[in-house]
Amino acid sequence: MIVAGNWKMFPGPDPAALAARLAGITGVDVIVCPAYVALARCVEAGLTTYAQNVHWETEGAYTGEISAPMLLRLDVGGSLVGHSERRQYFGETDAGVARRAQTALEAGLGVIACVGETQEERDADDMETVLRIQVDAIRDACGVHDRLVLAYEPVWAIGTGRTATPEMAQEAHAFVKSLLDRPVLYGGSVKPDNADELLSQPDVDGALVGGASLDVESFASICEAAARSHS
Ligand code: PEP
Repeated sequence: MIVAGNWKMFPGPDPAALAARLAGITGVDVIVCPAYVALARCVEAGLTTYAQNVHWETEGAYTGEISAPMLLRLDVGGSLVGHSERRQYFGETDAGVARRAQTALEAGLGVIACVGETQEERDADDMETVLRIQVDAIRDACGVHDRLVLAYEPVWAIGTGRTATPEMAQEAHAFVKSLLDRPVLYGGSVKPDNADELLSQPDVDGALVGGASLDVESFASICEAAARSHS
């Protein structure tokens, strides 16, 4: 079980307070993904820390980007790639996401690669086609790498308060795993009150949590639900 908290472009909780609250929770790998400016403070607090993105080159004229070696120098453990907000607002493509994942893995980082369909794609019955294209790009670049984790995040459920039903999540996760056999986290409005049901699905290997990760108690409750589902 893995629970990752994506703080997006928010300051997030105090890393030391979060680390203290999470200290007694066992059986779950907890990861925080703060904004770049908070990476060092999270590492110093003893939290397993991932960036929210990483570039495919190790250095160069790429204003606004951060490379894998730079993250490694901060003792950051890995990075998200392909979050839907990167795809939606910053024009990131399947090919670019795959290159980011590949470079990060080759450098020694862990990667959580996000995939998921929009509401229009689901309505058009295109969910499997979209997931196949997104996952194939990652698989072709990275293979079945042991530091690679996928996150199924239906775009219509991110930050909307609308969650996939446990059955919808299970179906999508099983499909993603049939394409690339790695752990798959569910993301999309995971909250303390829906975490038990979602995390008890057989192919749900954890959660990628946005909004609820900004509050120490909510995030800790979700981590506790993950610990319960495992036992
Ligand atoms: C996310 O940012 O990856 C996410 C799933 O956000 P939220 O939990 O707020 O829907």
